[in-house]
Amino acid sequence: MAAPGENLRINGDRLWDSLMEMAKIGPGVAGGNNRQTLTDEDAEGRALFQGWCEAAGCEMGLDSMGNMFATRPGTDPDALPVYVGSHLDTQPTGGKYDGVLGVLGGLEVVRTLNDLDVKTKHPIVVTNWTNEEGTRYAPAMLSSGVFAGVHEEDWAKARVDAKGKAFGDELKRIGWEGDEPVGQRKMHAFFELHIEQGPILEAEGKDIGIVTHGQGLWWLEVTLTGKDAHTGSTPMAMRVNAGLGMARITELVHRIAMENQPDAVGAIGQANVYPNSRNVIPGKAVFTVDFRSPDQAKLDGMRDRLEAEAPKIAEELGLGISIEAVGHFDPVTFDDGCVGALRSAAERLGYSHRDIISGAGHDACWINRVAPTAMVMCPCVDGLSHNEAEEISKDWASAGADVLLHAVVETAVVVD
Ligand SMILES: [Zn+2]
Repeated sequence: MAAPGENLRINGDRLWDSLMEMAKIGPGVAGGNNRQTLTDEDAEGRALFQGWCEAAGCEMGLDSMGNMFATRPGTDPDALPVYVGSHLDTQPTGGKYDGVLGVLGGLEVVRTLNDLDVKTKHPIVVTNWTNEEGTRYAPAMLSSGVFAGVHEEDWAKARVDAKGKAFGDELKRIGWEGDEPVGQRKMHAFFELHIEQGPILEAEGKDIGIVTHGQGLWWLEVTLTGKDAHTGSTPMAMRVNAGLGMARITELVHRIAMENQPDAVGAIGQANVYPNSRNVIPGKAVFTVDFRSPDQAKLDGMRDRLEAEAPKIAEELGLGISIEAVGHFDPVTFDDGCVGALRSAAERLGYSHRDIISGAGHDACWINRVAPTAMVMCPCVDGLSHNEAEEISKDWASAGADVLLHAVVETAVVVD
């Protein structure tokens, strides 16, 4: 069947009402949400979502990591489902849309197809992935990671929160541990709708971002050792200043990222000097370099350059240096077919769009390892996210869900 007609649209008011209804659960202190994973509020949000899915005629599935699957049947029993979804959990001071838009946008796709009595060959499954945020239980994207085989389930369930409560125990306590083994489901495709969490789309006046890649990352912890000495009585020529070395390496990191444009970024976000006293020249500095790029060769090249050039800076200043890799993700390249389906959907619907790189991690980045996957983004005001003031417009949400609808319908194949 040909692509759906441009008049096929989701119900923007209904999507918005559902977003506002979900936001009543686990309200924050400043207009946003605190619906952290595996809390009573999480359980309440799940129940609301499940009730909506059942009312839309979906059959519910629940795996042993608490991942939820709402299936709208297809006409071909042998056809693998098209999955859509994201996460309902939030940061402690989170917004109303991060994750939630992708889950409820998926539900809105199902509701719209029900309204119009559209049948698809492939089933459509709306998913809520457990613990995307990673605040209460590190790391982020924990359960989609188990699903994709990145993490062991036993390891994930043994993760503890700040109060020492284990993930597995809390999942049982809130009543959302299912029987279904994790990662068993095979997918025809996976689509995730998400807010951008950055400023590009709004600044450029674009309705839609088509995510082609996710940033890869290296975290490199650098330790410089010099000599603690009095800031007043030590002559300049006799100083071995670890703080000065850190400053020069900060410049180096910036320069390396600038020389790997477009899309590469680099910064030192975490830094400590010792003894951190205002009248002592730092004898030691420990800081983390964060390099990201969607291009594996550039990403690794940035690390190589730091490892080659930072020791020269240290040597000039008489400092000892060690560099240790403390975190890494490979860049993600989303599936050409899924990306193309989203791009042609935006085109057909007449929405302005651009390709974009995801700077943040998402469930789709893990699912991309086991299924053809892509993401679509809508703008958010001032690029603000992980903040209670996170805001989007109803039109932006609707445009994102429209693009999701068209890509899903085209991929799931309409049956006459
Ligand atoms: Zn998110």
